[in-house]
Amino acid sequence: MGDVGGERFRGPSDLHLHSTRSDGTEPPADVMAAAHRHGLRTVALTDHDTTAGWAEAAEAATSLGMTLLPGMEFSAKHEWRSVHLLSYLFDPDDPELRAETERIRGDRMGRAERIVANIARDYDLTWEDVLAQTTLDATVGRPHIADALVARGLARDRGEAFDGILHPREGYYEPHYAPDPFRVVELVTAAGGVVIIAHPTPHGRSRMMPESVLHALIDAGLAGFEIDHRENTADGKRILRRIAADRDLIVTGSSDYHGRGKPNLPGENTTSDAMVARIIARATGTPPVYPA
Ligand code: AMP
Ligand code: FE
Ligand code: FE
Ligand code: ZN
Repeated sequence: MGDVGGERFRGPSDLHLHSTRSDGTEPPADVMAAAHRHGLRTVALTDHDTTAGWAEAAEAATSLGMTLLPGMEFSAKHEWRSVHLLSYLFDPDDPELRAETERIRGDRMGRAERIVANIARDYDLTWEDVLAQTTLDATVGRPHIADALVARGLARDRGEAFDGILHPREGYYEPHYAPDPFRVVELVTAAGGVVIIAHPTPHGRSRMMPESVLHALIDAGLAGFEIDHRENTADGKRILRRIAADRDLIVTGSSDYHGRGKPNLPGENTTSDAMVARIIARATGTPPVYPA
């Protein structure tokens, strides 16, 4: 049992998990059960651009004796790069933050319809096929289109859909609205939350933001980096560890579990008790949910 820095939670901790409220394949309670089966004792639910799963996750986590850090993965964009910002323990009722996430979710819906219309020029796919793969109020993304392609027999799994029809090179891709990362850091920090860049150094197209931009984000209130994540490159991790040490940042490790939507399993990477304690100590928007 850890009482790190006076906080009452215990590890192991995995602070990046998705449910059917966005593009995971299991409802929040099932995600919590999967995390518990994999031995985790502190978790965060981080659906894309929504807090809709918090209540269900809190109830399930605490009934399993786990601590929940309510969270979200905020969609941002730097130049052409998609940047995902893990946001923890912010006030979910903050009006400006809510307005921004509602705008992203609304635009994601229209964008998904445009992608489907593009695909429908060449393949037998309808918007109804995609709606059949989403639950009410979920943040809609390409993973739901991937699931519809699988249901139509046009891809074997999400991975094949992303490497094929959904890949921008195929010409069906459409972008969605996303705020600048500086705006997200400002919004989440103003709402009492803590911002960590998710998988900051992916392979290929999106690459890492320039170091000068990372430093400017730290100056603006960015708290840290998710370093232990299967999509980060080895070279990128070395750079991030150096910057984190120089700037005394929080560093995390997590799975980015999406149920059956990705091979990632709960607890495949974890965050140290000391770092979880720093996230909790820094936040002022919403407290963690502790078991009774
Ligand atoms: P979108 O935000 O709608 O453009 O879709 C991006 C989402 O798709 C990310 O949140 C990832 O979780 C998911 N994703 C990206 N690549 C893959 C893949 N190869 N297999 C499964 N899911 C993926
Ligand atoms: Fe996702
Ligand atoms: Fe992400
Ligand atoms: Zn994620």
